[in-house]
Amino acid sequence: MSESENVQYYDVVIIGGGPAGLTAGMYASRATLKTLLLEKMIPGGQLNNTHRIENYPGFESIPGAELAERFANHAKAHGCEIRQENVEEISCCEDNLKHVRSDRGQYKAKVVIMAPGGENRKLDVKGEKEFAGAGVSYCAICDGAFFRDEVIAVVGGGDAAVEEGMFLTRFGSKIHIIHRRDELRAKISLQNEAFANPKIEFVWDSVVDEVCGDQKVTHLNIKNVKTDEISRLDVGAVFILIGFVPNSFLVKDAVELDDEAYIVTNTKMETSIPGLYAIGDVKPNICKQVSVSVGEGTLAAVEAERYINQGKAKGWWD
Ligand code: NAP
Repeated sequence: MSESENVQYYDVVIIGGGPAGLTAGMYASRATLKTLLLEKMIPGGQLNNTHRIENYPGFESIPGAELAERFANHAKAHGCEIRQENVEEISCCEDNLKHVRSDRGQYKAKVVIMAPGGENRKLDVKGEKEFAGAGVSYCAICDGAFFRDEVIAVVGGGDAAVEEGMFLTRFGSKIHIIHRRDELRAKISLQNEAFANPKIEFVWDSVVDEVCGDQKVTHLNIKNVKTDEISRLDVGAVFILIGFVPNSFLVKDAVELDDEAYIVTNTKMETSIPGLYAIGDVKPNICKQVSVSVGEGTLAAVEAERYINQGKAKGWWD
């Protein structure tokens, strides 16, 4: 990282402006820490792609984008600076400070909180993007209740697909789990429960070729991978549950990651590097919910404050 550009100093730099990062920003700035949050898009993360949220306490039903705006305004009201910048490099650590370089500036911070989330793995088929939020979903807990009494498809064969497929039987009249092989990856106990559920039917050796609809999803074109035969499956929604890709690449050579590239933390959200925290969907979490991310953002900010005060006591900075 070149020192020639102007470097700006902060107590805390947060990378990522989803619910986890915005909560950390609100708590850290309210604790009078000089806090900067860098987000490459608009603040809110996955909330901005969520039509309505019906399971965030205090809000029976609120558009995802509105909740995102409220989170961002709350953080700003306490003094958190939010900038639309793409972080390109993080280096840890000289002089006990972390260095962050974005496409627009350079920063040094006592604490960096990683909250860059990740992405649901996509099928990359025609119609998937077009019908996102209109019958294509990546989260049964978030969206299942919108499809009461409809026929629902689930794609995938892992724990998430089978568990969320069973959850969807509360709402859907029938659940078709479409898997590209003829045996599941999910754990045996989940498999046994799903096989015994009369509302679940498996579509083996098959992949989605196209998601089709008008205003919303009406059917899928499904290809049998053994015969190449295409068939039509009428559904009101499709839940794509084929894994998640965490955005941990910025620190992949610096901190401990697990086998699936999630950043490993302890219960205080500390990574293997002191002063570097990770929160939200970039860390392993079997329940990717706004309320969970909010809790982790809170914990990281409170722990960051302790770490900074400890550093003051040790004379790392004034
Ligand atoms: P996963 O275990 O990686 O399973 C992904 C599934 O999607 C696999 O069956 C895979 O097929 C299929 N798949 C991947 N790419 C595909 C594509 N392009 N087209 C069609 N199918 C595709 O992911 P996960 O189910 O999200 O689970 C992630 C982690 O969370 C796992 O460690 C899991 O154990 C954990 N988890 C645990 C629980 C629980 O314990 N209750 C619940 C949810 C998740 P193949 O099998 O053919 O590779």
